[in-house]
Amino acid sequence: RKLRVAIMGLGSYGTRVAKAMKDCQSAELVGIVTGSPEKIPVWKKEYNIPDKNVYNYETVGQMKNNPDIDVVYVITPNSLHAKHVMQVAAAGKHVICEKPMADTAANARKMIAACEKAGVKLLIGYRLHFEPYTRKVIEMIQAGEMGKLNYIDNYQGFKIGDPTQWRLKKSLAGGGALMDVGIYCLNAARYLSNEEPIWVTAQETKTDPVKFAEVDETIQFQLGFPSGLVASCATSYNIRFERLYAQGDKGFAELSPAYGYGPIKGRTHKGPLDEPVVTHQTAQMDGMADIILNNKTIDPPVDGQEGLKDMIVLDAIYESIRKGSAKMKL
Ligand code: NAD
Repeated sequence: RKLRVAIMGLGSYGTRVAKAMKDCQSAELVGIVTGSPEKIPVWKKEYNIPDKNVYNYETVGQMKNNPDIDVVYVITPNSLHAKHVMQVAAAGKHVICEKPMADTAANARKMIAACEKAGVKLLIGYRLHFEPYTRKVIEMIQAGEMGKLNYIDNYQGFKIGDPTQWRLKKSLAGGGALMDVGIYCLNAARYLSNEEPIWVTAQETKTDPVKFAEVDETIQFQLGFPSGLVASCATSYNIRFERLYAQGDKGFAELSPAYGYGPIKGRTHKGPLDEPVVTHQTAQMDGMADIILNNKTIDPPVDGQEGLKDMIVLDAIYESIRKGSAKMKL
């Protein structure tokens, strides 16, 4: 049977996920959680959602009595993820939570504990873990085709618009570019290396202290790994760029663009990569259905522990900046 999904937070990304799920083989959208009553008739019609599967943020607990929903996909502002995931877990439903998992590692730990206590699965919306070009590069590195990995260079950023949006408010976003898109660079450095970083150091640049009064605009950070590999990463709300480059002693891989919705493009020392082009969220939700319904595991994982590992490093990056670019041990 298919995984029956309710989306909480019908904003721009929630809408993208819902549309992508129309093409899923193993997952279907069956419910919504929204605080915007005007969206209810639109979504009910578009996705054939019955009244009994429509909830708001106050009634989520009642989902406990609804056997027709397996999992809730939390797609709300970052700082609300912890509260929302814990609400869903208390209602006895599995949870998929968007990245960044939370605004701090402390909150990520609370979310993991709540899901363990409730006996529900917690997955994080790392869509690239299901993306063929990304997977191909991971597989080639793991098969030793690049030799020993020595250096990773990667960056992602975009020029953010509307100055009133939640992404620029610390209380809802937790942080700026780093939390939003820099996390992709961090996550990639971790999954390409198949190691956990042992130190990080970071630098912040702010060219518009009014727009970016509450959150970071541009951050560069460097990660050191036990093997000696170093990763140089950058992220910005004021530079449009995205690329991932990994150099080993026998070869290299490059994805450019690397992190957006695609199509991802790539090449290695052996030539251009030619993988299937997929809608990331369709592949992700089919893959997550297999994880939730059939206990399948994937490598790199997309569970709460994977989200927490990123949050620990994000915390350390902000701490490094607070301490004048101090080298933080992890
Ligand atoms: P958005 O502003 O378009 O949507 C947020 C939704 O949350 C809205 O429907 C809003 O009504 C709802 N919401 C509930 N409580 C709210 C509150 N107190 N204040 C503001 N909004 C509230 O944002 P988005 O771009 O859809 O991002 C949502 C989440 O999805 C973020 O965590 C973001 O990092 C993540 N995201 C992930 C990807 C990806 O590629 N994986 C892409 C975009 C966004």
